[in-house]
Amino acid sequence: MLRYLTVPVTAFEQNCSILWCDATGKAAVIDPGGDLDKLLAEIQRLGLALEQIWLTHAHIDHAGGTGALAQRLALPIVGPHPGDQFWIDGLPQQSTLFGFPPAQHFTPTRWLYDGDQVRIGNEALNVRHCPGHTPGHVVFHAPQIDRAFVGDVLFAGSIGRTDFPQGNHQQLIDSITGRLWPMGDQTVFIPGHGPESSFGQERRSNPYVGGS
Ligand SMILES: [Zn+2]
Ligand SMILES: [Zn+2]
Repeated sequence: MLRYLTVPVTAFEQNCSILWCDATGKAAVIDPGGDLDKLLAEIQRLGLALEQIWLTHAHIDHAGGTGALAQRLALPIVGPHPGDQFWIDGLPQQSTLFGFPPAQHFTPTRWLYDGDQVRIGNEALNVRHCPGHTPGHVVFHAPQIDRAFVGDVLFAGSIGRTDFPQGNHQQLIDSITGRLWPMGDQTVFIPGHGPESSFGQERRSNPYVGGS
């Protein structure tokens, strides 16, 4: 059984998720943007063995703590897609710009591509490349529990910003309708910010992508 706990981190209240395989106690953390002590305390409280870092994209609130965490615990960094290399390179400037603690540079151990799988313990998740908010944005789909970890692609009642360098509004809409909706209306998604919702709920009521 796959389980998860979402822990908001940084001043941006970014939804970092701790994800684990119940049978083995092995865990991955998705988007450790910061507040590493808070995250590690939760992981310890849950009695888990943290083995991997997974990234949806390389904005500072999602990736800012990655380099430090990887170094501290000797963890592999999985993702995002190589389209986000320039955002990784820009992490020091991002931290200055947004008043974050200095972000350590890192190199992903493994880049992710559309159709890839990631594994933790006995569990596997499917990777979809969903560009638009950033060119290298990926989402993690766990069909066994009808959940998707979508970063800043889609929110309850809203969608990701596309006014950053290499953002693309039409690409984002295509990612949502072409790669998220096929996961099914019943799929509950964990967005990068704010409350969970389901794809069915957003298809019915989201003003940016409703009726699609
Ligand atoms: Zn973002
Ligand atoms: Zn974000």
